[in-house]
Formats: sequence, structure tokens, C-alpha cells
Amino acid sequence: MRRPDILNPLFAEVEMLDGVGPKLKKPLDRLGLERVRDVAYHLPERFVTRRLVDNLDEAGEGEQIVVRLTPTEHRSSRNQRGPYRVLAQDAVGNVLALTYFGRASYTAKKQLPVGETRWVAGKLERYGDMLQIVHPDHVLEEGGAGLQRLCEPVYSLAEGLTQPKVASLVAQAITLLPELPEWIEPSQLERAGWPSWSGALKLAHRAENVSARDRLAYDELLANSLALMLVRADNRARKGRALVGDGGLRGKLQLPFPLTGAQQRSIGEIEGDMAQEAPMLRLLQGDVGAGKTVVALEAMLVAVEAGAQAAMLAPTELLARQHFETLRAMARPTGVEIALLTGRDKGRARESILMGLLDGSIDIVVGTHAIFQDSVAYKDLGLIVIDEQHRFGVAQRLMLAKKGRRAPHTLAMTATPIPRTLTLANYGEMDVSRLDELPPGRQAIDTRVVGQDRLVDVVEGIGRHIGGGQQAYWVCPMVREAEGQSDDIAAAEARYAALKERFGDTVVLVHGQLAPEMKDAAMARFASGEAKLLVATTVIEVGVDVPAATLMVIEQAERFGLAQLHQLRGRVGRGSEKSVCLLLRGEQLSETGRARLALMRETQDGFRIAEEDLELRGGGELLGTRQSGDTPFRIADLEQIQRLLPAAHDDARLLVERDGGLSSPRGEAARILLYLLERDYGVQLLRGG
Ligand code: ADP
Ligand code: MG
Repeated sequence: MRRPDILNPLFAEVEMLDGVGPKLKKPLDRLGLERVRDVAYHLPERFVTRRLVDNLDEAGEGEQIVVRLTPTEHRSSRNQRGPYRVLAQDAVGNVLALTYFGRASYTAKKQLPVGETRWVAGKLERYGDMLQIVHPDHVLEEGGAGLQRLCEPVYSLAEGLTQPKVASLVAQAITLLPELPEWIEPSQLERAGWPSWSGALKLAHRAENVSARDRLAYDELLANSLALMLVRADNRARKGRALVGDGGLRGKLQLPFPLTGAQQRSIGEIEGDMAQEAPMLRLLQGDVGAGKTVVALEAMLVAVEAGAQAAMLAPTELLARQHFETLRAMARPTGVEIALLTGRDKGRARESILMGLLDGSIDIVVGTHAIFQDSVAYKDLGLIVIDEQHRFGVAQRLMLAKKGRRAPHTLAMTATPIPRTLTLANYGEMDVSRLDELPPGRQAIDTRVVGQDRLVDVVEGIGRHIGGGQQAYWVCPMVREAEGQSDDIAAAEARYAALKERFGDTVVLVHGQLAPEMKDAAMARFASGEAKLLVATTVIEVGVDVPAATLMVIEQAERFGLAQLHQLRGRVGRGSEKSVCLLLRGEQLSETGRARLALMRETQDGFRIAEEDLELRGGGELLGTRQSGDTPFRIADLEQIQRLLPAAHDDARLLVERDGGLSSPRGEAARILLYLLERDYGVQLLRGG
């Protein structure tokens, strides 16, 4: 089955739109706008409403206005970096500056000739004792049309793009929308009073329209639920094989602790699934430190007892190595053969591992994506464990499942305690086991919120801490993608240099762009206790396990998502010593920001943090929601997910129950939807599809 032809115009590359050349390609890519469809779906962040005023006396500071002005003078600044100003007069003689920075001054020169009247739209501000508009949104000739548009969309931009440019691309994309058959249940559509798909897209760009936005969000939720259900249905129908262990290997384990009730229950659920012929598709959800590794080991031993192999996939090399060490140590008494395979293994070593996997002498392999390359063949892969599930998409997961001769069982593990609503959206096709009980004896982590202005004291505190022989983490501020990835590395390097100056060789640095050997070397020095202070970006977020580290400093904590803060904090409090986490906050903290950090101080329960974070963020922070990456959606925000997902989910279920092959007219329409929103892995699975 390939993409329905009716979608072709939408899947054309953006280059086919007028005005898109090599220069625009880069900023468009950064926004993820690769195809006409992406442009059509690049919905406004918000709308501005402007007021048409006769003169500036009628306008307030901070107001968005449209006004007629006559330029009187152009002034370039004396130094290179200063602004370029055009002075202009309104109808009653008030003077205003139109201010431009950087290359924008070229436009100003062209658009604002002295003595000719122009319509100017923008935000009125005061600069010293002068009124100004910085980078007017529009400058139009007097006779020109267009300023009737007092309500205008505001799009998110990347460097090199302007609002008018994006608006023009959107306008073109909108004219290319085909009429698509309706995929939403007619009664649902009627009840909600939603426009058609193309109508909704057009409306959503034109004005703040809840109905249009909801419809588009619903489409996305429906597509997602439908795809997950198709995956699930396909999985049920697949021939896997029952793996029943005799307990022989598990009985030889000598764990230094009794399993918690939650661990026992989860292992039981996993064993039950693996004993079925249909392949297991289970998510093990458990907070940081809840003890997922040992559960995974038990599951892998079941596979080995039953004569099969198991593979464990980790998101990073660092984690793969750590899992390998942990598992090998724990499993030593069982005598099973465990190997590590990462992209770095080359030549002989790699050959020998590949051989072992093929002839079955290796029982368990731990690694990164390398373990699923085409060149890697297994004698008999019975179980795949995927650690930190959220970093792998459903599509990738499906690819992995093709590795076995018969479909292997899959156990996915995540430490991201997602709220229940989002669990459904992210993992709707899986069964869930929750480790909702921490191993006993864990000490609460003393969490404090401290102003960034007390940095000096904090550094002193670190000095005392490591001087006393203990270890600490220093996490550097995260910088959003849009602000340039390299900045956060630069920040980490600067902080590292400063701390190293103070504390010498006992400080090590780890960040994502370090060569793997250097990263490993730094980690090894820290893990062995030789280095006392680890400066890092968020790469230490998952998995790193150094029980002797009992202090963590997180800079500009308000920039992190709560789930992420929670994950980071979970790196301390792993040993028997009391641990401390210092959240450094910047000066300007919003109400929500304050509440979020307070929540971190108050509780260590990841599930509660996740639920309350969802409440705190609500639907308001549209962008934050999508950027935080904890939902698989581009359009639907958290509020919409909560409000609309149940209906979309039911709608999808009804459709699959009635027409699992998606061959009815509505089924056909739903196929189009799945391709449109790139959930077509669901369609690919349809028999004969
Ligand atoms: P996570 O769920 O974050 O992957 P780990 O599997 O790394 O957690 O376990 C965290 C720590 O807790 C490890 O040092 C592990 O040995 C220990 N642990 C696991 N289960 C128990 C238990 N039932 N009792 C005591 N300690 C446990
Ligand atoms: Mg883990």
C-alpha cells in the first residue's frame, strides 16, 4: 500500500512553493517545514489584533496599531551594531522613530522614502522620551490594500524567516489543499459542529477559532489512536511463541535484596505474557530507582531458560555499557553469556560477537541500535527489552520486532512517569505494568530552591562537600533547540572551566558532543570516585548510577521540564547517605515557574509530579507542550488531549471493530488520514493493505 494519490500535492516539497529557494530551505527545515503539508499545518502561535488610529495621541504604549506616517529623516547609527532609525510624523505632527536592527535596515531604506506617506503597523513603544515602533510588521503604500486586516496570525519563526514570508507560504499551501473524504464519525462531527478538514485548516490560519483547532487536534488524536490500535490488532494476530522458563537460571541469582511487591507483580505479568503465543507488548513504567533493571533481567532469564536469546536496547552508549556491567555482575552466578555490542565495536571484536549471536553461544546482548543492524543475525531472538522507551518511536519499535524468525516478545521500559491520559496517547497499543513502589530504605532527597545570585555560596558548599570526600553533580542550563544547540555546550564548558579553576583535576566534564572515548573516560573517573565533581548537560539524565554522589546542583532549574528535573534528581539519593538537590533559579520566575519548583521541593513521587505538571501547564503553554516532547502530537495541546482523547479513542475503537481492514468508505478516508499525519505504519500492517 502506498500513499493515496489524492495526497500528492500535500506531500510535494516546500521548494515548489513560490519564493522558496536554497536560502529559505534552512530556516524552513529548522521549523520542520519540509513539505506543503507541513506548511499548511504550521498553525499560528497566536493572533494580533491591531487598532487603526488617526494619530499617535489616540494610541497607548504597548498597543498594536496601524497609523499613517510620513518619514522625515533616516539616521544610521554611529557604531556598526546600533540600530537604524527612520523618523516619521503622524497627521498632527507627533514624531516617532521606526527602529531597525541588522540587515532589516535595507528594507527600511527601500520602504520608507522621506516625504512619502505610508501605512505602518506594529507595536507602539516608548524608548527614553521617544515613541518608537521596532521592526514594523507592515509598511504599505498609501493606495495599497491589505491594512483592513487588523487581525493577523503570528507564526513561530526561525532565523531568516519573517511573518509576511511565512504568511505567503501558508497562503499558497492553503490553495493546494485537496477536498478529502470525511474520516470523523458523522454524528461526532455534527455534535461538535466542526468544519470539514480543509475548512478547518483555512479557518485556523485566519482567526482564533476553537472549533477549527479542535477539529485538527481531534484528527491527530484519532489518527494516533487508530494507528496504535492497528498495531495492537496486528500484534495479537501474529505468531510468536510461548516462552516458559523452568526457573533454573533465576533460582541461581543471588540478589542482595528481596524484590519489592511491585517488582514481583510486574515479573509475574511479564511471565504471563511470555507464556502466550501472541507476542508480548508490555510497558514497564517505573520511577527512577524503582528497580527496573532487575525486572528486565528476570524477563531475559525466562527467555534463556526457554532456550531463546534476549536483547536489550539502550538509547546511548553510556547506558548500554552501564547496563552491561550491572547485568553481568548480577547474572554471574547463573553462568549465562552476556555480550555488549555498540556502534564502536569494529573488526575482530565485533565479528566474534556477531558469530556468538548467530550460533547461540551468546544468550543476552546489550547494546545500542547496533544490535538491530541488518548485519546482525540471531540464532533465536525471543525477547527484546527496550530501555527508556520514549526515545524510540512506534515505527522503530515495529522494525525491531521483525528481527526474530517468529515475532519476539517486547518489553519496553520507561522512567518517565507520564500521566495516565498521556500513557494512552503514547503507548495505547501496549499493556502497562507500573512499579509504583520504591525499594525500601531510600532516603528522601533534601531539595531546596536557591536564587542563582547565590552562586558563590553554592560553589563554597560544593567545596566543603567534595573536600569531605563526597561526590557531586553540576547540571548546566538547558538551552532550547531554537536558541542554538551549541550554546548549552558552551555554557557547560564555561562552567567547567570555572569550577576546574577552583577545584582542579577532580572536576570532569560530560556533554553530548564529546568524543565517546573522552566521555567514557570522564564517566569512568567519576564512577570510580577518582573525580569528585561531574559537570554535565542533560546527558546524565537517564540511567547513570553512582551511589556515592550525594549532591546535585541544577542551574536555571526553571528551564527544565518537571519530568526532566525529576529524572535528573534521581541520580542522587541512590546510596545510604542523605542527598541534597539544589535547584538554582533565575531572577524572573513566573507564577507557574514558582509553583513548579515548589512542587519539586515538596514531593519525590514521579507520578504525582507528572500529573500536577500537566495541571500546571494546562493548555495555555501551547508551545511548551509541544516542545517538551512528552506527547507525540504537533497540533493537539495538553488541554485538548485531555478533553478530546477519550472520544477520539472510542471513535477509533469502533472503527477498528467494525472495519478492521479499513475498507469501508469511512475506512478508506481513515487510511488517508493516517498517511496525511504520518501514522501510516498502522496502515502498512493491514493484511493485503
Ligand atoms: P531504575 O528503575 O531507575 O532502572 P535500577 O534498576 O537502576 O532502577 O535500580 C536502582 C537501584 O536500586 C539499584 O542499585 C538496584 O540494585 C537497587 N534495587 C533494585 N531493586 C531493589 C530492591 N527490591 N531492594 C533494594 N534495592 C533494589
Ligand atoms: Mg534504569
